[in-house]
Amino acid sequence: MAAVVMNGKALAAKVKQEVKERVSQMEQKPGLAVVLVGDNPASHVYANGKRRDCEECGIYSEEYMVPETISQDEFVSLLEELNQREDIDGILIQLPLSEHLDEKQILLTIRPDKDVDCFHPYNMGRLTEGEEGVYPCTPAGVMRILKEYNIDPSGKYCVVIGRSNIVGKPQALMMMQANATVTVCHTKTPDLKADCLRADIIISAAGKPNLVTADMVKEGAVVIDVATTRTEQGGLCGDVDYEAVAQKASYITPVPGGVGPVTRAMLMENTLYAARLHGKK
Ligand code: NAD
Repeated sequence: MAAVVMNGKALAAKVKQEVKERVSQMEQKPGLAVVLVGDNPASHVYANGKRRDCEECGIYSEEYMVPETISQDEFVSLLEELNQREDIDGILIQLPLSEHLDEKQILLTIRPDKDVDCFHPYNMGRLTEGEEGVYPCTPAGVMRILKEYNIDPSGKYCVVIGRSNIVGKPQALMMMQANATVTVCHTKTPDLKADCLRADIIISAAGKPNLVTADMVKEGAVVIDVATTRTEQGGLCGDVDYEAVAQKASYITPVPGGVGPVTRAMLMENTLYAARLHGKK
């Protein structure tokens, strides 16, 4: 039987609508600052997307398109200034940064209560301890998708493919917190197929098209494809051999239109969360 296609676009619209309703009742609006290095087409697409999301939710937003020649000190000063601003609750930096910049120091400069992408070790530490807080947008989006489709990870075997700090690691932690038994696979995993075949839930975030094929998926498994690789035609594709896997899985996310839009919506939720932390009512 063909899998249920999990509609990330529709869910994102619902999440943003919820944020909009909550923001509309606030006296002081949440604010987000987006910092981008380099004035190039990719930066504009990124900035426009964030601006549109903020507008839809009634969140105030500002963009800083800083030159590629910006020095480390200038970058840090900009962040320190944003850290002090009461109208700015969240600070988002488009990564990766130019080679000459010390990314680690820059991310550490963002105040943890304004770190809406959850890059700061303080927030990652809270996540590791299972404390409430700002959680990284992409894995939080995956959890939201599972919830929307009433898929309870508790007692399930889950394979997370990828161990990056942004997706794989926090995803594994969140699934563990949701009482799944989690295996994290990566480039040195000896038998990815064997691990995947045991999984009730596969979450793939490798960035390798066609990595997950139908023969690796158990009948009835839930398959979430986080990856977004640019195709030669300029489109996006995930890690999963979608058409074939959809014939075996019970639920599947498409690429595009799956995890991506929900990730963006989670940023709006995180900005609202940060505004509440700052006492905005
Ligand atoms: P990354 O390159 O930092 O990490 C990729 C991980 O996949 C690594 O840990 C690596 O060990 C593992 N991997 C790579 N090839 C593998 C293989 N053949 N077998 C097993 N494991 C393998 O990437 P990332 O930042 O974690 O992003 C992963 C993917 O998710 C990318 O395609 C990225 O574009 C996408 N992404 C999507 C969203 C979204 O909103 N949908 C957000 C963030 C990242």
